[in-house]
Amino acid sequence: MASVKKLGILGSTGSIGVSTLDIVAAFPEQFEVVTLTAGNNLARLEEQIRRFRPKMVAVISADGAQQLKERLGADAPQILSGVEGLVACACHEDIDMVVSAIVGAAGLVPTMSAIETGKDIALANKETLVTAGSLVTEAVARHGVRLFPVDSEHSAIFQSLEGHRMDDVRRLILTASGGPFRNRMLADMASVTPADALAHPNWSMGRKISIDSATMMNKGLEVIEARWLFDVPAERIAVHIHPQSIVHSLVEYVDGAVIAQLGIPDMKTPIAYALSHPTRLPLDLPPLDLCSMRNLTFDEPDLERFPCLALAYEALAMGGTAPAVLNAANEIAVDAFLNEEIAFLDIARVIRAALQGLEVKPLEHIDQVLRADLWGRKEARRFIDARGEGATVC
Ligand code: NAD
Ligand code: MG
Repeated sequence: MASVKKLGILGSTGSIGVSTLDIVAAFPEQFEVVTLTAGNNLARLEEQIRRFRPKMVAVISADGAQQLKERLGADAPQILSGVEGLVACACHEDIDMVVSAIVGAAGLVPTMSAIETGKDIALANKETLVTAGSLVTEAVARHGVRLFPVDSEHSAIFQSLEGHRMDDVRRLILTASGGPFRNRMLADMASVTPADALAHPNWSMGRKISIDSATMMNKGLEVIEARWLFDVPAERIAVHIHPQSIVHSLVEYVDGAVIAQLGIPDMKTPIAYALSHPTRLPLDLPPLDLCSMRNLTFDEPDLERFPCLALAYEALAMGGTAPAVLNAANEIAVDAFLNEEIAFLDIARVIRAALQGLEVKPLEHIDQVLRADLWGRKEARRFIDARGEGATVC
């Protein structure tokens, strides 16, 4: 029997983190939790600590760490805070695999640290590859670790590539649901609210990725993620709108064969495959009933209504620090939209403005990514504030 896999779960209180722990709970003989980290959701983290008994946990603030210690009393594991705490939880010597499920660029440093200490990675945090793809893939190769995609599209491509030669691949085709505004006219998108944008038709996810799905920046980030994960240039990565979210993505080969992975839209499938590759876990999910489906449709994305997708391809073509700036500006713009400071269509305008002001530098060190990230945040904030004072952003 295979030995128990010891996990560090970064972002354990989020949508992916909770689904990961559901799988751990269903297969206690296969997985053990060594570390957990969370942002501010102390109540949920406390429950998880009591249930999964990790050796070490980390939260963002020292205050939060103190509160957690008081709540847990004698049951408290080692409780840390800040980036150092996250990194310690990513690098704990007992861990075999780190589930990287923090949202945003905050996931980069702990994920990179885990790679550098030889941990395999189940990667949900796409921002890690978006902001620092070349450095991350180099580090993965240098340290001989494995990077398993959790993102459903990338898991589908990973599965569709198994047993094949990369030389035989013609194109990767990422599917996109099109989000809640797939059929909205551009003019009607101007007035959508955060609640409208958070209502994803097929997937239940965290707030940031839900807004990214509504703007289709999520697909843009996924194109960049795929570029680095599979080492395929952007010209050979296509996006098809597939509103049913049943075909999770496809690989087209040079002989015309197309191989896809299908399934009901539930993140447990790709999470479980990343955790237990190459074996499959018998998950308790309803089977895919193809006969009950009237149609599975595919369409070209509309870059005019969804300019964020075009901006992501542009940032990838610009190279170097551009994707980190794209990502940072997007994080600030999404926050500003959720706080009702800017309108939905302003999200793309803010990102475009940040990219326009950028002097691209090649990536040689992670510090450059962190500086580009900070710069992108400041630029985005500057444009949002200027807008509030009556200036236009575009
Ligand atoms: P979420 O918002 O539900 O959870 C994020 C987790 O990260 C929480 O535990 C939160 O406390 C923690 N966190 C947030 N900010 C932090 C910070 N600054 N420092 C430390 N921890 C912080 O997000 P999610 O939907 O679970 O997404 C997580 C990642 O997985 C994202 O990168 C997302 O793009 C990716 N992803 C999610 C899904 C999905 O279905 N939810 C699918 C594919 C990929
Ligand atoms: Mg996805």
